[in-house]
Amino acid sequence: MKEACGVFGVVAPGRSAAHLIFDGLYALQHRGQESAGMATADAGMLTVVKDMGLVAAVFDERKLHGLTGDRGIGHTRYSTHGSSDWANAQPVYVSSAAVPGGFAMGHNGNVTNTEELAERVGMLPGLGVADSAVVAELVLQACERQGGAEDLRPALRAVMDQVEGAFSLVFCDPHRVYGLRDRHGFRPLCLGRLGTADHPEGWVLASESPALDVVGATFVREVAPGELITIDDHGVTAEQLLEPATPALCIFEFVYFARPDAQLRGREVHGTRRRMGELLALQAPVEADLVMGVPDSGVPAAEGFARASGIPYGQGLVKNRYIGRTFIAPDQAARASGVRRKLNPLRDNIAGKRLVVVDDSIVRGTTTHAIVQMLREAGAAEVHLRISSPPFAWPCYFGIDTPNRAELLAATHSLEEITALLEADSVAYIDLALLREAIGVTEGFCDACLTGRYPVAVKLRGATDGAASSADDPLALQGALPGL
Ligand code: AMP
Repeated sequence: MKEACGVFGVVAPGRSAAHLIFDGLYALQHRGQESAGMATADAGMLTVVKDMGLVAAVFDERKLHGLTGDRGIGHTRYSTHGSSDWANAQPVYVSSAAVPGGFAMGHNGNVTNTEELAERVGMLPGLGVADSAVVAELVLQACERQGGAEDLRPALRAVMDQVEGAFSLVFCDPHRVYGLRDRHGFRPLCLGRLGTADHPEGWVLASESPALDVVGATFVREVAPGELITIDDHGVTAEQLLEPATPALCIFEFVYFARPDAQLRGREVHGTRRRMGELLALQAPVEADLVMGVPDSGVPAAEGFARASGIPYGQGLVKNRYIGRTFIAPDQAARASGVRRKLNPLRDNIAGKRLVVVDDSIVRGTTTHAIVQMLREAGAAEVHLRISSPPFAWPCYFGIDTPNRAELLAATHSLEEITALLEADSVAYIDLALLREAIGVTEGFCDACLTGRYPVAVKLRGATDGAASSADDPLALQGALPGL
């Protein structure tokens, strides 16, 4: 299972954009570890460097020096649509005879009408072109129709309402940097300022606020759903490009994706995770000797669980910090041994104890099962799993590459079966209402992965004509899913 990508954009007159983008991408590494890239603009020309691998592996000082200019965009990628290879690394760069300078684009999200758009722009059907490439082509053709791309705004205004699904996009042309969020705001995007309010020295766009902090920018606000931000030498302008729909920020940003130090919807994510643990302790109490979190994502909720239950908090597992979140391994067996590479028990803390083990989610169950086994082998007397998200039972079509339903443990098993399969003494998931209460904002989320209520119809690739789901009829989607 893969997660959302990270995007970044900056205009910082007189400074090296590449170095700022590098720092920003480093802070967004957790959102995508397959490839990294950036595009900078200098003297009317764009330079793009991208490659497979982590940010620090793709860029070194020599490459950053080659990326001249004081404005540009960057991207860290996980493939959600399109395979994981160099051709799909981002930013995507496009140009044509009519649009010689071209533009670069970075995308976080997942477009749900890719095939339809591909057909519209004349890309060969069935080639499985990545959704991002299709969007870039759509905008390029709009630029051509308008006789050039001195400014991308007219083209974006002309075509972006045709794009359905999830997108937080950054663009860079030879003069400007732009940021655009889809009308539901599925994926985060925020705006920051370099310098002071009286004397701004530049503007920054980023998926998450820690990427603003790292470059010394001040958080200004979240980009609104459907809003286009344009940054150039004169500063920043905003326009409501797409008619906003009911907001549908991915609830999993709070549960798992976003960094704990990110500001989302006006709150720091870490505090909401701790609160999830507190509410979970009240909802599903258990007698135990030690509360531990599965590093790193389960730790804040475990702290909260311990605080609310009065059971001592301790560390039960040590994580090898040099291993990322990626499930690099292609099959189940390899994934299970990947867990051992990543986590190792603290035997003295665990032996003979009744443990509450808190994690943020169970997806396939592979990690969780391996963890339970590891703790039992280390001498745990009991293992009670407490999960700070409700059962993950529906695939995501809006930016997370989830397995199909058949592979989602909670889609195919009852709680009793899950408890038995994971070989745990008990399992409890937080109720959706309590999850929302912990976040402190109860409206405006996409929780389709937990409820099957998809905020927009999804036209599935490979589905027969007209087989689209709707928010009212999740079963239509279920029926259309291949491989169920
Ligand atoms: P699983 O073994 O499939 O049940 O995976 C559950 C673990 O994956 C939990 O520890 C989560 O923190 C983590 N996780 C949840 N969502 C994702 C995701 N999108 N990508 C990678 N790991 C995830």
